Parts: sequence; structure tokens; C-alpha cells
Amino acid sequence: MEQKNQSIKILGSKIDLLSPTQVLQEITLWCQGNEKHYICTADAYMLNLAFEDPKLQDILNNADIVTPDSSGVMLAAKICKTPIKYKVSGCVLAENLCKYSADNNLRIFFLGAEDGVALEAAKQMKAKYKKMNVAGYYHGYFKEEETSQIIDLINKSGANVLFVAFGIPKQEFWIAENLDKLNVNVAMGIGGTFDVMSGKKDRAPQFYQKTNLEWLYRYFQDPKKSYKLKLLPKFIINVIKYKDGNNKAER
Ligand code: UDP
Repeated sequence: MEQKNQSIKILGSKIDLLSPTQVLQEITLWCQGNEKHYICTADAYMLNLAFEDPKLQDILNNADIVTPDSSGVMLAAKICKTPIKYKVSGCVLAENLCKYSADNNLRIFFLGAEDGVALEAAKQMKAKYKKMNVAGYYHGYFKEEETSQIIDLINKSGANVLFVAFGIPKQEFWIAENLDKLNVNVAMGIGGTFDVMSGKKDRAPQFYQKTNLEWLYRYFQDPKKSYKLKLLPKFIINVIKYKDGNNKAER
């Protein structure tokens, strides 16, 4: 089935049905133009928050692309009888952008995570993809009053792609509030990706990835993330309860 330009809704939030390659192609095209775009990478936690918070839901529904970022979202889509073919996680998408940045004239700014982590993530990506163009980096624990300085830094860096790694939903609200002032073609929220890229945290081993159990590995790795795990039953119950309202929709 051709999935381009199609989306479904889960608990009132849209999820786009694009393959990882299609998402990369869209971003590359955007970076040749003058418009601003943003991407959300949605897991079950984000969809449940959005279900309860109309402001977050508006941000998702107005995003240029929302990718399905977790096994929970894939399961929810099956329950709604609108199965999703491709999972497009923020982590994999961000690494692919680094990989293809040189060939597609992408200049990437790394914003977020603890002091030193964004720099280390950028260094690791540059070591792996030698021709990659890192526009700049900054940590994610700055004060609100420093926001305009950070925006200046990003704008002066010449970045056209901005990774924002503040965690859900802080990164989505930050992008929605500041995109107007940013001279980038695309901003995307990518959660804990810099922690993984920098080596601060491991990516789940292949076994967990193949069996869709990455969430379980992340819980073992960081039990503080149990708040996400605890929300899963509520998410699935909500999906079952409201699945008739989750109609498939063309964009
Ligand atoms: N973070 C940040 N600023 C904040 C709060 C969090 O930069 O004010 C970073 C944090 O250091 C971590 C990431 O945001 O690198 C959140 O990671 P997590 O895996 O919790 O993301 P999520 O599960 O929400 O995708």
C-alpha cells in the first residue's frame, strides 16, 4: 500500500504513515526551501498526555510530520484496525540525518541533555560520519531568560536542522513557542537521543529491538522511567475505549 501523505489518528492525535526513507526525503526537500517545519516523534506516553492536554494535541496535529516512535503506538494502531507498517523512532531518524547530512547539505544543531552530552553526541556522530556538518550544540538546562541568547546562537550557527532533546513534552512546547524566531528549516523533538548517541546510555540490544521490547530494556536501564511504563495500561484502555473515534484520515 502506498503510504505517503496518509495519516491515522490515535486518541485524537495524528500519526503519519511514512517510511523512514520518506521522512528523510521530506526533510531534505524542506532544507532546500525557506519554510519552517517541525516533527514530533510520538510514543504512547506522548499520545496519552496529548489526549489529556488540548494544547499538546494541537501541537501534534499541526506538526508537519508525527512519526510513530514506540511499540505501544504500533499496538494501539493495530487495535484501531489501522496498522502502521513502519516504526520511525526519533533516535534512528536523528542518526540517519547525521549519516546523510553531508550529501544533503544538512547542518545540524544539537540542543538538549546535560552539560557536555550534546557536545559528546555531536562528536560521536562526527567520528562515525566523517563528512557530517555539525552546526553547533548547547545543553538543555538553560534558564528561560536565556532563551533568546540560545536562539541567537542557533541562528548564527547556520543550522538548517535543529535537534531538540529536552524530553516529552517540554521539547514539543519549546519548539511550538520558538519556531517562529528560529531560522531553521526543521526542528524535531528527539527525547533522550543524545544520551544514547554520546554513549551515556546504551541503545537496547538487537534482541530487545527485534522483539519490540526496547521499552522494557529502558526500564531496566533507568527505573525512574517507570512512570512511562505505568501509563501503558491506561493508554491501551483509552485506545480500546475510544477506538471508534480514531478514524483513519487523509491529510
Ligand atoms: N532534558 C533537558 N532539559 C530539561 C529536562 C531534560 O535537556 O529541562 C534532557 C535530559 O537530560 C535527557 C532528555 O532531556 O537527555 C530526556 O530524555 P528521556 O529519555 O527522558 O526522553 P523521553 O523519554 O521524554 O523521550
